[in-house]
Amino acid sequence: MIQNGNLLRALRISVLSLVVFGLLTPIAPGQIKITSPEEFFGFRLGSDRKIARWDKIVDYFKLLENESGHIKVVNMGPSTMGHPFLLVIISSEENLANLDRLQTINAKLSDPRGIAEAEIKGLIKEGKAVICQSMSLHATEIGGTQMAPELTYDLLSREDEETRRILDNVVFFLIPSFNPDGQIMVTDWYNKNLGTEYEGAGLPWLYHKYAGHDNNRDGDFLNLVESGYAAKIMYRDWVPQAYIDHHHMGSYGARLYIPPYCDPIRPYADPLIWREMSWYGAHIAYKLEENGKTGILNAAQYPGWGHFGWHWITPFHNIAGMLTESASANLASPIYIHPEQLEGRSRLFPEYEAQSTFPHPWPGGWWRLRDVVEQKEISAWALLDLAARNKETVLWNAYLKAKRQTERGSQEKPEAYVVPINQHDSLTAIKMINTLLLSGVEVKQAKKDLVIGNAFYPEGSFMILLAQPKMGLIRNLLGRTNYPDNYWTRDKEDGDPLRPYDLATHTMNEFMGVRVDPIAEVPEGEFQILSSQVPATGEVEGGEGHVLDGRLNASFKAVNLLLEQGVKVKRADQAMEGLLPGDFIVSAGPIEALKEIAEKTGVSFKALKSEINGGVHEVKKSRIGLYQRYYGGNMDEGWTRLLLEMFAFPYATLMDAEIKKGNLLARYDVIILPDDSPEMIMGEIPERYRRYLSSVPPEYRSGIGKEGIDALKDFVEKGGTLVTLGGACEFATGKFELRVRNTLGDLPSKEFFCPGSTLKVNFENSHPLAHGMPSEGVVLFNTNLAFDILPGQHNEMYETVVRYQERDLLQSGWLIGEKHLSGKPAMVRAKLGKGEVILFGFRPQLRCQTYGTFKLFFNALLR
Ligand SMILES: [Zn+2]
Repeated sequence: MIQNGNLLRALRISVLSLVVFGLLTPIAPGQIKITSPEEFFGFRLGSDRKIARWDKIVDYFKLLENESGHIKVVNMGPSTMGHPFLLVIISSEENLANLDRLQTINAKLSDPRGIAEAEIKGLIKEGKAVICQSMSLHATEIGGTQMAPELTYDLLSREDEETRRILDNVVFFLIPSFNPDGQIMVTDWYNKNLGTEYEGAGLPWLYHKYAGHDNNRDGDFLNLVESGYAAKIMYRDWVPQAYIDHHHMGSYGARLYIPPYCDPIRPYADPLIWREMSWYGAHIAYKLEENGKTGILNAAQYPGWGHFGWHWITPFHNIAGMLTESASANLASPIYIHPEQLEGRSRLFPEYEAQSTFPHPWPGGWWRLRDVVEQKEISAWALLDLAARNKETVLWNAYLKAKRQTERGSQEKPEAYVVPINQHDSLTAIKMINTLLLSGVEVKQAKKDLVIGNAFYPEGSFMILLAQPKMGLIRNLLGRTNYPDNYWTRDKEDGDPLRPYDLATHTMNEFMGVRVDPIAEVPEGEFQILSSQVPATGEVEGGEGHVLDGRLNASFKAVNLLLEQGVKVKRADQAMEGLLPGDFIVSAGPIEALKEIAEKTGVSFKALKSEINGGVHEVKKSRIGLYQRYYGGNMDEGWTRLLLEMFAFPYATLMDAEIKKGNLLARYDVIILPDDSPEMIMGEIPERYRRYLSSVPPEYRSGIGKEGIDALKDFVEKGGTLVTLGGACEFATGKFELRVRNTLGDLPSKEFFCPGSTLKVNFENSHPLAHGMPSEGVVLFNTNLAFDILPGQHNEMYETVVRYQERDLLQSGWLIGEKHLSGKPAMVRAKLGKGEVILFGFRPQLRCQTYGTFKLFFNALLR
């Protein structure tokens, strides 16, 4: 069928060339038959109890590409688990043939520096609106991906004026699944349970190999393969003028949330962005009402200050980044909802009653996947329609946003950020610069040494001017951020602080422990604009032995690679000539292998200056077990798995049955409990989750139970290391009766509140667990834990590794009740029997983003 299609396509192109040369009259587009989704899949998409699987959807798009000249299917590459990640480009044949030119125009309008307004006006006439929409990033939110083939079919087969106008004026980038792996997992899981009592049950494990639901918390750090593709599409190759990410929400509120967002809004976007979102949202709302759709909510529930996932970070790339959220059915099984079960209870949508942003409530009844597909297609179409009707306005706005953001960057303070090349962990600084480059930020590198005020920056240091179109992004990533404490962020009745949608700050340099200096005025100097990733290639010096800098995260990867090859590695216990505590010493090793590791990690093998007589110990290769549970999986577990792989730590996944069996020390030296509530680890499911979780088949219900506690305690007492992250600390302090208490446990939120913020701490870097750390810095606090060590007979069994500073703790984010943290232990090592429990009250490795504290975690695994 596909080969036939190719023939057809070749034929059509040659026919087209005859048309172009005036030898034939044009053929109407409808003359080549476009296969409908119903014909191809054998059912109407969105039908009850049917989900089209990703491989079939890929085949369908390939077929359409052969049948129509209005579509180009680009395979961006394999997903995390090896499935094709597609970008589908839909536009007129003429536009698709002219994509290179349209891309140039898009680039100039998105970065008009140095281009005269007269030229801009010409480009706006010639250019096309670029609109991107992505589907089902959260793979259980299946409606978007099920809708995409139908939307595409309609765009390719309809012949009315509205459709023609869209194809002529818009280049539409469709990402039909942002998470192909999850789409396949969910489809197979759904089909497996179809017709059983577990029909429609949620997936018991993460629907992305590493990130699960957190795959939209990665639009800034780009740790996931899929994020890399999206960044290429939207941050670098093109800058769309508008973008919608199509999601689902719970089943009992509005039927559909559409743009705009409500308050608060994050600062530093061009204000026009917020106006554009209202404009698009109004058209989408109008079109839904015109089509008789009810229960549509806008300007409520989702605030304009969220996490840095795709729809929330794109506004800072000057893209009108928006969201739709459909009420969920039970995957493809319908759900019945009684009128009295419907509720508001969200930001600016307090009651389930008509209000100006929710004028037409849905009355309740059956709710089906088909309802989702239809409302999503109307929304997606409306965005394309409005952009097509107003192409020149959309492009003029693109120009204005970029121009005004650049002007603001040159007029406001600071004017630039400087990232010194000589800093605590210079390789992590380079990693940060490379991440910014992947986001399309312009970075310059100093060709000569630089002096700014009293500060000296050696050649190779980086400078990021704010006078560039992505000023808002840079300011949010590299400047201190105060989350607002105001009318919009407090409960209207009791004044309790409202939890931000995610973290209260996303300051990349703070998370990464990278020094970034704000500079009031752009200095003179010679710079080059970086046009590709900054290479970090280490060198291997000659000599008898080598030293690896213990301050570099990348040194841990190098050591893991060395240990894998059987090379002996030692570690300095104290400062010595040419050595800092925590530095690694490699006494021998085949030079070629060292060179390869230096190249792979960027770490230099420096020559060992003097002979070592004591003060070192041999690094032992730990056998690491990482605890994993069901009930939808634990995202922190997934990210931790990715982090271990990124830094070449060997590990095994450890599940309930193995823990319960006991004798853990025979197989593991270190066991990691990722951030989780003690109840979830135990398998005592809190009432609030019960409705959803009880529907899962029994083999996917997890919890280590009483036997698990005994097994883990036995493991520690006999000499094992238990690492507990965030909430999991309370499991250890509670179940092992450690003399450590969470000081924040019962405080009401008005008294203490600190959602996802960076806080100042002191690192006790003479302690082996803090080797390689600076003496002070920040940690990411996100789980309400600080410790009191309770007085007892053996206080010496407890060691504080990280401690909150006394005052002015908040670096970025939101902190109420500083006094409750002031001077308290943030990370504690508790000895128990022959072993130890390492308690991290903050999040040392959140989402593979907090590079600044990775070493604390790595030290617990590799000493
Ligand atoms: Zn979602």
